[in-house]
Amino acid sequence: MAHTPDMALLADRVAAVRFHMAQAAAQAGRRPDEIKLCAACKSRSSEEVRLSAGLEIDLFGENRMQELAAHMADGAYLGKPCHFIGHLQTNKVRRVVGQAAIIESVSSIRLLSAIAAEARKQGIVQDILFEINIGEEDSKMGASAEALWPMMDDAASLPSVRLRGLMAIPPAFDNSPESRRWFAMMRALFEKARARHPGSAHLDTLSMGMTGSYIAAIEEGATLIRVGTGIYGERS
Ligand SMILES: *Cc1c(COP(=O)(O)O)cnc(C)c1O
Repeated sequence: MAHTPDMALLADRVAAVRFHMAQAAAQAGRRPDEIKLCAACKSRSSEEVRLSAGLEIDLFGENRMQELAAHMADGAYLGKPCHFIGHLQTNKVRRVVGQAAIIESVSSIRLLSAIAAEARKQGIVQDILFEINIGEEDSKMGASAEALWPMMDDAASLPSVRLRGLMAIPPAFDNSPESRRWFAMMRALFEKARARHPGSAHLDTLSMGMTGSYIAAIEEGATLIRVGTGIYGERS
């Protein structure tokens, strides 16, 4: 039987996330409006996405282009932006460029070039983040911190892409000191990237922190958190 989303439960969960976001911001001496809430809606139905879109969510995050296309076709985002946060294959960029407000998971010069070529073809400028594999884990996507500098130079030479910042999925998924250490490393890398390209006012996004770790991420400088189970419940 199809799972029926519970509006009251969704509303309670989003309110709880917002409450903890505000608390973490205050703790860090930051304004709450500096941090955006991305609802990571992989595997959720269009009905669930549409219900959540009416709540205090800033944008959606999709991992699969098929789900992005389906949710978009169903009008499930209610006009809110959607970011692409999953692994993107070079031969699949055509259906994501121009649909996602930001492609957060750009992790190679090859993918960057493919996105830039497609954006040029569509006559648009595609916003992107570079995904950094900060823990240097074999199991994860993302570029190494050192690879960031040549990728930034390439992005700067491509007029059809605009680098907005960095994204990471660190090795720890909680609010522990270890988790904070990874987030602090990302924050330092982000600041270094901004200092390296002075005048790049559009480098404004540091996407890090998930359901179990967003409090630590906000306290360490995240401007965008991606929350899935904390909004929609466990994935079946
Ligand atoms: C699923 C997912 C999230 C959200 O994870 P939760 O632990 O469910 O909050 C965040 N970022 C990415 C890239 C994801 O794939």
